Amino acid sequence: MTAIKEPSFRESVDLMFNRAASLMDLPPGLEEKIRVCNATYTVRFGVRLRGDIHTFTGYRSVHSEHMEPVKGGIRYALAVNQDEVEALAALMTYKCALVETPFGGSKGGLCIDPRQYEEHELEQITRRFAYELAKRDLINPSQNVPAPDMGTGEREMAWISDQYARMNTTDINSRACVTGKPLNAGGIAGRVEATGRGIQYALREFFRHPEDMQKAGLTGKLDGKRVVVQGLGNVGYHAAKFLSEEDGARIVGIIEWDGALCNPDGIDVESVRQWIVKHGGVSDYPDATHSAEGGEVLEAECDILVPAALEGVINLSNAERIKAPLIIEAANGPVTAGADEILRKKGVVIIPDMYANAGGVTVSYFEWVKNLSHIRFGRMQRRQEEARHELIVSELERLDRYLDDAWSMSPNFKAKYLRGADELELVRSGLDDTMRIAYQSMREVWHSRDDVEDLRTAAYIVAIDRVSKSYRAKGL
Ligand code: NAD
Repeated sequence: MTAIKEPSFRESVDLMFNRAASLMDLPPGLEEKIRVCNATYTVRFGVRLRGDIHTFTGYRSVHSEHMEPVKGGIRYALAVNQDEVEALAALMTYKCALVETPFGGSKGGLCIDPRQYEEHELEQITRRFAYELAKRDLINPSQNVPAPDMGTGEREMAWISDQYARMNTTDINSRACVTGKPLNAGGIAGRVEATGRGIQYALREFFRHPEDMQKAGLTGKLDGKRVVVQGLGNVGYHAAKFLSEEDGARIVGIIEWDGALCNPDGIDVESVRQWIVKHGGVSDYPDATHSAEGGEVLEAECDILVPAALEGVINLSNAERIKAPLIIEAANGPVTAGADEILRKKGVVIIPDMYANAGGVTVSYFEWVKNLSHIRFGRMQRRQEEARHELIVSELERLDRYLDDAWSMSPNFKAKYLRGADELELVRSGLDDTMRIAYQSMREVWHSRDDVEDLRTAAYIVAIDRVSKSYRAKGL
C-alpha cells in the first residue's frame, strides 16, 4: 500500500490561509506578505551535562511584525523542527488578530525530550537557550514575548524571566519579557488554566447558538454531552475538568501517549490526572477500559472530540472514520488540510484552533499588561466596589424594616454581592468576554456569506482582514 501524501504542517496552514484569501479582495502582494514567515532563527548551543558537552537545536520564528511585540509559546519536544515552528508562528499571527490581542505572531521550540533530564539540567539548558534568544532580542518585553507550550510550563517561564533580568539589570519592565510565569514571579492568576478555560468558554458560546448546533446535528445543552479528549496535559486536563465538573459533560474517552481510556459512564478527570502524575501514563488505570491503540479512540462515538495534544492527528488516513459531529481544536493544527476537507463534506463542525485555544494568549496579554503596569488587577477598585455594594445592601436592609415578611433577600445574596472581584475573577471575566466576542465575529462571516462554509475559513477571513488593515495603516 502506498503511503498517503499529506502536506507538511506549514503547508497545511498555508492551504487553509489560501482558501480564505481566495474569497477576499486583497492585493496579491499583500496576501503574499501576510502569508510568509518573516524570519526563523536557528540556534545550536552546547551545554555541559553529566561530564559531556551536549548540543541542542532550537528555533524562534517570527511570522508577522505588523504589531509588536510578537508573541508565541516555546515548545520542548523531540519532533520540533523549522516547518513546525513556522506553522505555529503563523497560527499565532491569526490567533492574536482574531481575539484582538495587540501582538504579531511568533513561536519557538527546542528539540529535546524533557523527560530525559533532571530538573537542574533542564534549568541549565533553558537558561542557555534563553540567553541565545535574548541576546538577539528574540526575548524582549517590547519585541518578542514567549509563553508556555507543549513540554514547558511555569517553571521554564520563571527561568527565562530570571535569565532575561540578569542580562538586563536596569530594565524595569523585564518581567514582561515572558508570560505564563508563576504568580510569585510576576505571573497572573488564571494563566495556567487559561487555555482549557477558553475551550470551555468557546463551547458554552457555541451552545448558545441553536443554528450553529444544528449545523453539527446537536441539540440541548453541554450537560450530558459525550466528550473524547486527546492529551491530558495542561490544555486537555483543564478543558476536560471544567467541562465535566462545571457543565455536566461526560468524558467518555481520554487518549494519552501510552493508549486510551474509555468508559461510557464517564471518567473522573482529576483521578486520571493524579494517576498520570504518579505513574507517568494512563496504563493500568482501574476505572476504565484501556486500549493500547489510543489513536483509534479518536474515531469513537461521541458528541464532542477535543484533540489537545499533537498536530496532524486527524488526517487523510482516519478523517473518513471520525464519528464526532463537533471537533474543537484545543491543540494547534490537529486536523490537516486534507482531513479538514473530508470532514467539511461530512458535515462535521470544527471550531478552529486559532480561536479555540486562544485563551492562553488572551490571559498572557493580561499578564503582560499587569507586568508593564506593575500593579495587580483589581487592587485599586476592589474595596471601593465592596463599599458601594455595602451602601446598597444597608439601604435595602433599612427598607426591609418597613416591609412585610413577604420580602427578604435570598440567603447568600448579601455575602456574594458584597465581595469585590479579585484578580482571578477579573481574568476569567476578560477571557469570557474575549471568547464570546471573537466567536461572534467568526459566526457573523460564517452565516452572512454563502461562499463561507465553515468556521475556520470565517476565522481566517476575520484575522487576515485585521492584519491587512494593520499593514495598510503602516503604509504597505
Ligand atoms: P502539555 O505538554 O502540557 O500536554 C500535552 C499532553 O499530550 C501530555 O499529557 C502528553 O503526554 C500528551 N501526548 C503526547 N503525545 C501524545 C500522543 N501521541 N497521543 C496522545 N497524547 C499525547 O502541552 P499543552 O500545553 O497542553 O499543549 C497541547 C496543545 O495545545 C499543543 O498543540 C499546544 O500548541 C496547544 N496550546 C497550548 C497552549 C498553552 O497555554 N499551554 C496554548 C495554546 C495552544
